[in-house]
Amino acid sequence: MTETVDPFWKYDEDACQCNEFTRATYARIYPVIADQILERTGITKGACLDVGSGPALLAMALALLSDLRVTALDSSPGMYELARKNIRDRCMEDLVVPVIGDVHAIPAADAAFSLVVSRGSFHSWEDLPAAFLEISRVLRPSGMAYIGGGYGSARIRDEVLADRREREFVGDPAYPPRPRFPKFSVREIEASLEVAGISDYRIISDDSGFWIIIRKNEEQKNRHGPALGKETDPENLPQFHDGFFFSQ
Ligand code: SAM
Repeated sequence: MTETVDPFWKYDEDACQCNEFTRATYARIYPVIADQILERTGITKGACLDVGSGPALLAMALALLSDLRVTALDSSPGMYELARKNIRDRCMEDLVVPVIGDVHAIPAADAAFSLVVSRGSFHSWEDLPAAFLEISRVLRPSGMAYIGGGYGSARIRDEVLADRREREFVGDPAYPPRPRFPKFSVREIEASLEVAGISDYRIISDDSGFWIIIRKNEEQKNRHGPALGKETDPENLPQFHDGFFFSQ
């Protein structure tokens, strides 16, 4: 495992600050990532679970861009409250339901979901094989999972980083760079998937971010088969103006 440095580590500790941060600088990434998820998995309807959903911005984007009904699961009560408020503020209670829970013991029945997504959370999970096993358990046969992190495109990533600098988060002695969390290596991820009995998956590492795309298909033995979605050019995806969710 390697240590990475993220000067914004502090924001993850405080749900309110995290919410402000995502609303101020991140809002534009969620519709882009949601669109990539829908395109790459081909799953656009049914029940979806967002694990480690935080303020539920990705969950809301998915629900707005598809016919999915989304459960937004987070282990943090503070995040749950913020998700509840964000969902209520957008009158999306029928589309997105926030739930407190841990990925290691997902409070849902077997095969409950067609799609499981997770952004920016898996590096915090304590037991990666157990988490993958739980995700596999709640996926229906042929259901898919899209787990990882990123900003959707290089252009958006650069804009977000520039915005961070403009807001003087970078270099502010009040927010010194600190080790954020140990990142799992690809080898560790693949070993964890194997322990969880997941053999049908593809790993993408490109300008859209780092994503593990899993299909629950016990008969599929080919780990990196081209059948798992298709590559997309993030720059050709629909663009959304800043404040897509929070324009007022
Ligand atoms: N997915 C959101 C986003 O992209 O805006 C939030 C990402 S935030 C960096 C990571 C989230 O994962 C936090 O809200 C945290 O509470 C949640 N989390 C961490 N470990 C978790 C676990 N074991 N089970 C469920 N949620 C977890």
